[in-house]
Parts: sequence; structure tokens; C-alpha cells
Amino acid sequence: MTASARSTAAPFTAGDYAARRERVIADALAAGLDGGLLVTPGPDLTWLTGYRPTAITERLTLLVLSPHREATLLVPLLERPDAEAAAGTASLELLDWTDGADPYAVAAALLDPAGRFGISDSAWSMHLLGLQSALPSTRYQALSPCLPMLRAVKDDNELARLERAGAAADAAFRAVVQLRFAGRRETEVAADLARLLLELGHEQVDFTVVGSGPNGANPHHEAGDRVIREGDAVVLDFGGLLDGYGSDTTRTVSVGEPDPEVVRVHGIVREAQQAAFEAVRPGVPCEEIDRVARAVITDAGYGEQFIHRTGHGIGVTTHEPPYLVEGEARELRTGMCFSIEPGIYLAGRFGVRIEDIVTVAAMGGRRLNTTDHGLTVVA
Ligand code: ZN
Ligand code: ZN
Ligand code: ZN
Repeated sequence: MTASARSTAAPFTAGDYAARRERVIADALAAGLDGGLLVTPGPDLTWLTGYRPTAITERLTLLVLSPHREATLLVPLLERPDAEAAAGTASLELLDWTDGADPYAVAAALLDPAGRFGISDSAWSMHLLGLQSALPSTRYQALSPCLPMLRAVKDDNELARLERAGAAADAAFRAVVQLRFAGRRETEVAADLARLLLELGHEQVDFTVVGSGPNGANPHHEAGDRVIREGDAVVLDFGGLLDGYGSDTTRTVSVGEPDPEVVRVHGIVREAQQAAFEAVRPGVPCEEIDRVARAVITDAGYGEQFIHRTGHGIGVTTHEPPYLVEGEARELRTGMCFSIEPGIYLAGRFGVRIEDIVTVAAMGGRRLNTTDHGLTVVA
């Protein structure tokens, strides 16, 4: 089933896409990208146009966002029917090129021959080199270092989708903790989580981390053959896309009566997550949220065991700016959405992480995940 078939969100309109493109062109000019932006297939293209090519191939597909002309999507002729639907919705000019023609010459006709352009980070080098040789006086910069906050501020429709994705992930958590853990493999619980996410409306599952006992101490452990035992702490971190927008939440549960140290460490992580959440408001530097969470964990003596940043943005992908990390001094703005996910990892023993998606509202943070932060005991 496709996203649109199960979608109940209001569709994005031509006005939504046009407003995003207008904002992005203004940001590009402010960043010195006088030629505008060149966007190849990926999350930025989807966000700017609604177009998501079914396959990303060697044939050039390029959105040209220039301060001097209408937004134009250049596509291979054989992709034209699919692109037409998206271009109609997003009110784009559509231009095609035919196999055997030089797509870079076609693109060059749309570009300022001496412009400085931002180009998608993931544009194929073949395409960048083709453009460079068609227009030797043009200059290029990778898009995300110039415009890291391109998609970071969400509009109301995007927020509504993120909220629904979060609620569905929460429902999956409430359902999975009713199931048996002890005696089953991590992969079986992960399969349950994936099934639940899909049943509860996600069109895509991106990750289902089930880190039991010592595996929980590896934050990037997915799920393996380990059989979950009585007394294990289990990190459950899962998410995917619903109506094109991401969910990502983590809770740590105990199989039967928890070990006293698990209770203690869990309490510290919970306190760090809460303190970081309470620090959220417009104008606060991203790194400040990381510092607040880290201070709680460091003061409790586990600073060395909190081995990753505090959070990442979420939107049409499940990992994107803003990053809540030391050194990211850009400020939080109303409408940004990101995870707050401090953790403590005790090698060879267990890990604890608590993660909610949070959005920045005028008065402070608002959680999009609302399942209990207590240490849930499962069977
Ligand atoms: Zn991650
Ligand atoms: Zn996560
Ligand atoms: Zn996350």
C-alpha cells in the first residue's frame, strides 16, 4: 500500500511547496549562492516538490531553483509521466531530455553561466562534473553545509504528520510491552515492533532496535539472535515513516524485577531527558540542550558512558538537522522538531536510553511521544 492510499493527512498544496521554495531561495541568496540551488532526487527534492522518483538512476533528474526563473524540474523523458503528476501539484515548469541528448547542455540553458550554486550533497559526481564542464565558470558548494536548516522548521501540516507518526509509535510501544520478552530472540521482538508500526499506520519501518542485556550497551546494535532473559534491561528504539514523516522513540524496559543498578541508571537518564526537555525554547542554542542533558549524567558519574549527541532533527527523514550537539550554536526556532535521547551505556552489562520527539513551541517544548518514562516491567 502506498503512503497516499492510507493517508488521512491533508495533502500538501502548490502553495505549500511554493512557500518552501521561496524561503529556500531567499536563504540561498543570503548564503551567497547567487545562482540558486540544484537539487537531485532525495529528501530535499521530495520536500520541495512532492516528487519522489520510483528509482534513482544514472539519468539526470535535476530541480533548478533560481532567483531569476520559475522553478524547473528537468527529468529524463521516460520519467515524464510520473514527474508530470508531481509537477502539476507543485506548480513547477517541467522540462525533459531524451536518451542520446546531452542532459548537461539542457541543464546549462537554465543556469546563470557564472553563478555560484548549492547542489545536493548526494548529487552524483558524474552529474556535477557534467555541469562543470558545460559551464566552466560556475561554482558549486554542497547544499547542507550552506543551508543546514533547510527543512528544520516545520509548518502546521508537517507538525500534524509528525504528531500522528509519534502517536502511532507510542501505540506500538504500548502493544509490544504486552507481549512476552523472556525466552524469545531479539529479532522476534523486533519483528513484532515492525509489524505493529505497519499495522498502526506507518508505510515504512526504518529501524527496530532491540538491545537486550549487554547488547543494550551498544547504541547501534539493531537486533540479533540473543535470547532475552529474566532480569535483562532491554533498549527498544524504533521508528519509520507515516504519511511521509518520521517517528523515532526509545524506551528501556526490564524483563521481570529490575536490577537495582538498572533502576538507578534509568532514573539518571530520565532526569537528564526531563531537564533537556525543560530547557527547550525558541532562541536557545542547539548545543545548550546537549549540555543540559550531559550535565545531569556527568554529575551522576556516568559522563564517560554517554557516548553520543543528545538528539537529531526529524521530518521527511528520521535523521536530519538540527543536531543537538556541542559545537552547534545555531538557535532553536519555533516549529523545529528533534529527538531528545540521552543514554548511559555500561559495556558488557546493559544500556539505558529514553527518547522522545519534541517540537519547539512559543512557550517551550512539546513532546510528540507521550508514553510513560518509568521503567516498564515486561514478562
Ligand atoms: Zn542513530
Ligand atoms: Zn531512536
Ligand atoms: Zn533518534
